[in-house]
Amino acid sequence: MPANVSRRRFLSAVTAGGVAAAAGWAASRAPKRKALVAITLDLEMSAEYPKRGMTEWNYRKGDLDADTKKYAVAAAKVAKDRGGLIHFFAVGRTLEQEDVGWLKDLAAAGHPVGNHTYDHVNLLATKPEDIQFRFKRAPWLIRGKTVAEVIEDNIATTTLALKERCGITPNGFRTPGGFRDGLRGREDLQKLLLKQGFTWVSSLYPAHGCGKPKEEPGDAVYDDIVKAQAAAQPFAYPTGLIEVPMSPVSDVNAFRTHYWKLDWFLKAIRLAVGEAIKTGGCFDFLAHPSCLVVEDPALEAVKLICDLVKDAGEKAAVVGLDTVAARVKE
Ligand SMILES: [Zn+2]
Repeated sequence: MPANVSRRRFLSAVTAGGVAAAAGWAASRAPKRKALVAITLDLEMSAEYPKRGMTEWNYRKGDLDADTKKYAVAAAKVAKDRGGLIHFFAVGRTLEQEDVGWLKDLAAAGHPVGNHTYDHVNLLATKPEDIQFRFKRAPWLIRGKTVAEVIEDNIATTTLALKERCGITPNGFRTPGGFRDGLRGREDLQKLLLKQGFTWVSSLYPAHGCGKPKEEPGDAVYDDIVKAQAAAQPFAYPTGLIEVPMSPVSDVNAFRTHYWKLDWFLKAIRLAVGEAIKTGGCFDFLAHPSCLVVEDPALEAVKLICDLVKDAGEKAAVVGLDTVAARVKE
């Protein structure tokens, strides 16, 4: 073999190898997509809070007590002081309360407020008595409407109430309760939301283990929560409506259902947010001031999330769910 050929082969092999190595280097060094981390608080009363056995809230979810409102305002301040924001979801009935100045102030400070229905109704209900406790106790309120009509009305009235009482245009819609399949297969509901002007919904809460109530979760539970983050990434339904799932673990699931201690909850958050930062994914923290005011009075969860994002520098940002939804179209 002539020397020049072997030299050419040698050079091309070196170049090919060099290109491959450079590509590998670039892939490992290329900035991953920024992790989008949202902190969302549903403004509603939670059964079993502030004391176990208090379930009357189920009938008046939007009748916020003073402590719950104070916590929401304090959480917003903590997030804002750390350069972030909180995405709130309001129940329409809250707009009937005497004072809504605090909610107006939150919106004016740049915190998005979404629609969480008027009475905290179940969008998947098929029978009138399953729509919401309030309608079960007072079925005359339905006045012959179909389940779909009651739900449609409940969402539209909330949009109206937010606008008329607070001048707020709702930023997105969250279903009361999370569904493990979201609104998959429910094109009727997807279209209902699109018709009411929503481009995205937050309805999916993926299945995951939580261990036995009152028992400290083991590695398997934490692993499962981290694994579930992949199922909590935003996507578009066939109708075009975008889903922005809630990311495990929620406060009511951890504290109310499984009697977790705050440290266990914070550990799960640390791992889940870490996973989002590692993968350049999205994380949608779901909690309720009415629950956290009892379980996490010093706002440690909100502080922790903001600090984890801050420590990640360019790799993560605290955003509203509308920003998470927009990623689907990138
Ligand atoms: Zn809710």
